[in-house]
Amino acid sequence: MHTLNETHDPALTSWVESANLAGTDFPLQNLPFSVFRPRGSAEAFRGGVAIGDQVLDLAALAGLDVIDGPAKAALAAAAGDTLNALMAQGPAEWSALRLALSRVLRSGSADAQRLAACLAPQAEVEHEVPARIGDYTDFYTSVHHATNIGRQFRPDQPLLPNYKWVPIGYHGRASSIGVSGQTFSRPVGQVMKPGAEGPAVVPCARLDYELELGIFVGPGNAQGQPIPIASAESHVFGICLLNDWSARDVQGWEYQPLGPFLSKNFATTISPWIVTLEALAPYRLPFTRPEGDPQPLPYLDSPENRGAGALDIRLEVLLSTGRMRERGMPDMRLSATSYRHAYWTVAQLVAHHTMNGCNLRPGDLLGSGTLSGPSLQEAGALIELTTGGQNPIELPTGERRTFLEDADQITLRGWCEAPGRARIGFGACAGTVLPAA
Ligand code: MN
Repeated sequence: MHTLNETHDPALTSWVESANLAGTDFPLQNLPFSVFRPRGSAEAFRGGVAIGDQVLDLAALAGLDVIDGPAKAALAAAAGDTLNALMAQGPAEWSALRLALSRVLRSGSADAQRLAACLAPQAEVEHEVPARIGDYTDFYTSVHHATNIGRQFRPDQPLLPNYKWVPIGYHGRASSIGVSGQTFSRPVGQVMKPGAEGPAVVPCARLDYELELGIFVGPGNAQGQPIPIASAESHVFGICLLNDWSARDVQGWEYQPLGPFLSKNFATTISPWIVTLEALAPYRLPFTRPEGDPQPLPYLDSPENRGAGALDIRLEVLLSTGRMRERGMPDMRLSATSYRHAYWTVAQLVAHHTMNGCNLRPGDLLGSGTLSGPSLQEAGALIELTTGGQNPIELPTGERRTFLEDADQITLRGWCEAPGRARIGFGACAGTVLPAA
C-alpha cells in the first residue's frame, strides 16, 4: 500500500501550463498511462502519460536519454504498443518511473525544452485498449446494486445469502472490450416476454449501462500459488473507468443458473487512461462493514485493508441523446456516487480470485461491478434509476428514457478531490448505441 511521497505534494506545478489549471483531470500529481498515436495515422500505438491537455510520448522520451537510473527499464517497457510489459514489472519500477516523470515535468526542470518535443495535444491523438487483456472478470461489489437488482429479479429474496461472504463474480469476455469512443450495434437476443409461451429473438428492448471501475492486474501469480491479501495490491497496476453495457431482457431469461452470458459480452467500454494506485494514495479510506454484518473471513482481512483498503473515487454518469446533440445541448447527469461504498476492496478481489490457485496475468482486467451508492440517486444503472423501466427519466428535450435508445451516448467520469490534496481525474469513458445490425 502506497504512502504519500514528494509526487503527491499538492503544491507541485508543471511547466506544462494546462496541468496547473484548476479542475484539470491531469495535474502533475496524477500521471496516468495510456497507449496512443496521432489521430487518423497508421503509426504504431505507444505508451503515453497525460499531463494537462497534453500526452507525453513515452517512446519518444525513451529515445532521449533524459531518464536514467531505476526508472529507465520501466520507461523502456512503457514504449511498446501495449502496457503489458510495464504492468508485468511491479510497484518498485512503476514508482521509480512516476518519480522520474514528476521531476522532469516539474516547473523549473532543466529538461523542459527537450521534453516539450515529446508532447502531443490530447485533442489530436487516438487511443486503443491499453493492454492485451487475456482474461476479464466482472465482480458485483456494490451491496446496494445487488439488493436493488435482486429485488426486481427475486422480490422474496433480494440479497442471496452468499453475498456478504463471497466476492461474487463471473468470467467475462475480453474480445469485445473497446476504448472510449466505442460504438456498437444494439444486440439481438433471446427474450422471454411476460405471458409469452416461448422466447422470441428480437433486438434488445432493455439496453442498459453499468457504472464500474476496471482494475488492471500487474505482475501475475503462478498457478497454484494464491496471492495473500497482504501483498494483493502489489499485483495491481491501476484503475480505469468501465461501462459494462447490459441487455436486461436477455439477462432476465438467460441468467439462471450460470449467470450473465450474451447479455453482457457484446460490448464493454473502458477509459483510455489508467490511474495508478500510487496516484490514488491520498484518497484512501478505512474499509468498514455495516453494524451487524459478518466480518470478512481471515483470507479477506488484513490490518492494511481495514485501515485504508477503500478508495474515495467520485463517479458520475452522463447521457446525451441524438436529439440533445442535434440541438447542441449539454450532457445530462443521470447519477453520481463514490467507489467508497463498495462492499469489497481491490485487495479482497485479488485475494479471492486467486485463493483457489487461479493465476492472474499482467493486463488481466477485473471489473468492480456496478457501483451504486446507498441512495437511489446514486444508482449506477438505468434498471435501478427507473425501477426496472417503471419510472421514466424526463430529459430536457421532452424525451423520456427507461432504457437506452439508438444514438444515446453514455459518458462516465471519475475524479478524486479532498481539502489539502491535488484533485486528480480519470478523463472520460464514452460509448454510443447504434441501431441493431
Ligand atoms: Mn457488471
